[in-house]
Amino acid sequence: MANTHQAPGVPTTSVLVVEDEPAIAQAIVHRLSAEGWSVRAVGDGLAGVEAANALQPDAVILDVMLPGIDGLEVCRRIQAERPVPVLMLTARDDETDMLVGLGVGADDYMTKPFSMRELVARTKALLRRQERAAAAAHSGGIHEPEPPLVVGDVSIDRAQRRVLRGHDEVHLTPTEFDLLLALASNARTVLTRERLLADVWDWVDASGTRTVDSHVKALRRKLGSDLIRTVHGVGYAFQPADDGADAPHAVAEP
Ligand code: CA
Repeated sequence: MANTHQAPGVPTTSVLVVEDEPAIAQAIVHRLSAEGWSVRAVGDGLAGVEAANALQPDAVILDVMLPGIDGLEVCRRIQAERPVPVLMLTARDDETDMLVGLGVGADDYMTKPFSMRELVARTKALLRRQERAAAAAHSGGIHEPEPPLVVGDVSIDRAQRRVLRGHDEVHLTPTEFDLLLALASNARTVLTRERLLADVWDWVDASGTRTVDSHVKALRRKLGSDLIRTVHGVGYAFQPADDGADAPHAVAEP
């Protein structure tokens, strides 16, 4: 993304970093500024919420363990004001599972220690997703509204980003919605974790597959455990049991 030759008056990409370890915060600011982005760092939770509201950043990089209010609460408060892509920094891999399970609404997770190159790649992916979502929202009014995607008893309204199972609305985070849409658009097809990572997160690396697994768990918890089958050693398939089609030749996890 060549943002270095922007005309005057064109807003630069703005990233907020909420991290209480000065050395890490400084390294992140230094590296992300080199991308031509406007980067601001704050060191505690409340300052993070205030800065997010004041700066309206294009993306937020958010540490989980913070003084004051923790990263989970910061994420909830930021997202309640205005949806913005959030990349959470966690201390351990299993923390990612826990956080996705809580549905705090972060879009991606990265376990410390991480490489700055990986951080840049994931932040760029978040920004691309945001741009695509904004473009889709703007083109929405021009065309006839798309009919909802219906697979089994699941109905997905792409324009409104609403999901029904039967008559019950299921509330998903933006990332959970995108993942469900990717799976349901390819119903009864086994999608690899790498393919899902590329389609939903717009970013592929072996370390990202845990993010996929965590979000599939969250989807199962919200939608019911019977819709998404695990195909061992391959990936996942959206397969409503009662839709009359042949089951994929796959081994389903309990
Ligand atoms: Ca910390």
